[in-house]
Amino acid sequence: MRDILVAGNWKMNGDTARNSELLAGILAGAPTSDRVKLLVCPPFPYLADVARQIAGSPLQLGAQTVSEHPAGAFTGEVSVAMLRDIGCSHVLVGHSERRSLYGESSSDVAAKFAAAIDGGLRPVLCVGETLAERNAGQTEQVVDQQLNAVLERVGIAAFARAIVAYEPVWAIGTGLTATPQQAQDVHRHIRSVLAAHDADIAEAILILYGGSVKGDNAAGLFSMPDIDGGLIGGASLKAGDFLAIADAAASL
Ligand code: PEP
Repeated sequence: MRDILVAGNWKMNGDTARNSELLAGILAGAPTSDRVKLLVCPPFPYLADVARQIAGSPLQLGAQTVSEHPAGAFTGEVSVAMLRDIGCSHVLVGHSERRSLYGESSSDVAAKFAAAIDGGLRPVLCVGETLAERNAGQTEQVVDQQLNAVLERVGIAAFARAIVAYEPVWAIGTGLTATPQQAQDVHRHIRSVLAAHDADIAEAILILYGGSVKGDNAAGLFSMPDIDGGLIGGASLKAGDFLAIADAAASL
């Protein structure tokens, strides 16, 4: 049976005091379950501080993006080695906000994914369609293109050290959630695309759902056979909301 991962994407929110309060709440209330794992992805300036606060706890640390370059004259960028150095184990790549607001192409995302794998960080590859694409019946086509760009660059073996997050863009921060069956259909499709390359890797990989996950819809989503947890935006910013999702995962 696969683990359930509940990952919080704090986006560009928080400050030192609020982060400490949030972490203290999460650490105090985190469910004790061998199967449920928790990950937080704070903004860059707070990563080292958060790493110190969660040291020795089961909470894992990730960044929200990373440079595809190892080092050098890339003003404003942060490398995989730097993230590893300060205690990150994971990094999000290809979040829809990076793709839509900062122009990251699938080939940029593939390069970041490759850099993460090469440097020993576990990438969480975010894929998902817009509402227009869903309404045009293009969901699988869009997800295939986003997955294949990475598969062509790194090969299937790299997915043994990665996570995929299916995040329909129309569900992110909108309060609209894919139904468990809508999400399951895409998750199953993603697993089948990977299985066409390697059945064992496809069976083992965690595929998270993201898009307005809350305490009251998490259990329904996470109980679907191909949904292995969630990537949580808004509801990761309050300990009670995040823990309600973690508790729902632990109840399964
Ligand atoms: C996200 O940005 O990854 C996300 C899923 O956000 P929200 O939970 O707020 O929809």
